[in-house]
Amino acid sequence: MDECLFCKIVNDEIPCEIVFENKHILAFRDTNPQAPTHILVIPRKHISTLNELETEDAELVGEILLTARNLAKVENIDQDGYRTVFNCNKDAGQTVFHIHLHLLGGRRFSWPPG
Ligand code: AMP
Ligand code: ZN
Repeated sequence: MDECLFCKIVNDEIPCEIVFENKHILAFRDTNPQAPTHILVIPRKHISTLNELETEDAELVGEILLTARNLAKVENIDQDGYRTVFNCNKDAGQTVFHIHLHLLGGRRFSWPPG
């Protein structure tokens, strides 16, 4: 946890462009954006992957999704559309092991994903 990049962001040890924060959640712009809007929504609490989610985290995950919904409106991508993604472990390409929801929008995405 001491070495977790996103815990360092939560603890203000690494700068980032915050777009929303509250007691439980932080949302900031991805430094390597894959779309005109690319925001990461994370819990302040360290959870490594979706596999480590506990039943008691249900409300927290709901809050993460509602935050993405709100930010999609702020970013004006709610009507054209957007994608939300949690990558889990190596086959999905997870590189930071502190769960984060990607909010991507402002361009058309293909399906199925690569
Ligand atoms: P994932 O591959 O799903 O684990 O996504 C990790 C994301 O974190 C990638 O999109 C990275 O570009 C992003 N990222 C890595 N370091 C930072 C940072 N310091 N600030 C903001 N985003 C970051
Ligand atoms: Zn962490």
